Amino acid sequence: MAFQGKKLLGLVLFSTVALASDDPYQAGFAQWAKQLQAQGDTTMAAAAESYVQEVQQAWQRHGYIGPKVPLPEPVKVVDGVYTIVGSLIWHNPANYGFNNNLSFAIFADGVLVYNAGPNYAVAASAHDIIRRYTDKPVKWVVMENNQGHAMLGAGYWLKQGAKLYSAEKAARQFGEAFDFIKREWSTRVGEEITLPAENVADQFITFNGEMVLDVGGGEKVYLWEETGHTPSATSVWVPSRKVFFAGDLLFNERMLALFSYTDSLAWADAIRAVVKKLPPDTIVIPGHGTPTDLQTAVEQTLGYLEFLHEAVQKVVDAGGSIEDAQAIDQSRFKDRPVFEQTHKRNAAHVFRELGGL
Ligand SMILES: [Zn+2]
Repeated sequence: MAFQGKKLLGLVLFSTVALASDDPYQAGFAQWAKQLQAQGDTTMAAAAESYVQEVQQAWQRHGYIGPKVPLPEPVKVVDGVYTIVGSLIWHNPANYGFNNNLSFAIFADGVLVYNAGPNYAVAASAHDIIRRYTDKPVKWVVMENNQGHAMLGAGYWLKQGAKLYSAEKAARQFGEAFDFIKREWSTRVGEEITLPAENVADQFITFNGEMVLDVGGGEKVYLWEETGHTPSATSVWVPSRKVFFAGDLLFNERMLALFSYTDSLAWADAIRAVVKKLPPDTIVIPGHGTPTDLQTAVEQTLGYLEFLHEAVQKVVDAGGSIEDAQAIDQSRFKDRPVFEQTHKRNAAHVFRELGGL
């Protein structure tokens, strides 16, 4: 009898250790159960083992059972539309990786969330805030691009029963780079807070170009794919509320960051194209910074890109070097957060884009 019991326990241990292996806390208990079993203390081993299973089941049931984090109060944008404005500096442990905007819109059939958050703690904390505004369930979560702060929280919302939406290319790139992205955000923001993130990219509902969602009450939202800041991004236009969730297509207050994968000329073109589609009195929720009017967001974003394109083009035309591009006087933008971390790199990036040698 004792032998059979042990064998059974061994089988149970095998299956849950594999599941718990990502989480040191659960793995620790599983390991302890194994040691107890080896020592012949099958009763205690079973107790430790059942605890691992309970934690696992609670995770599955609630989506997330870790700490909550204090997020800023949402800013009301228009009726039924709010945004929680993230930190304007780079992701770090002090801001829990929440350095973009997580927004929500309340519709007749449910709530639409824009951006999944950088981890489950931020996602769950944002969800708590949303529940203070409405009893309706979160039905749609749209992610602006493949960056960590847009998608690492996705698995949390999936477990809440929401459908996740992303441009197809962004979903593919996120899925492929998931391990790298998770590691980078673990290092920069924190191991423990990033740990629960799962790669659920294969469960995103994807689209190319445009997708229209019927959100009830006769309202529709438009998901538009753009390229530039990242190779593939999604903005959301809600014509009935005249509000545009721009994602990183438009910034306000904060300095732009051009990454190795940024196509700044395509970015500028994408802004020009979207401006033609939106009414002039559109309210913009930018990727970074507080909500503002369309003119201000365009001036802040396209204004900087055009300034840089023109100034760097002059350097290239004069046969100047990358150092000359980096020396361009960008001091009129110096009060924007992350200016020091970005401006020279931005100039060098545009120098290479414009064919500088
Ligand atoms: Zn961003």
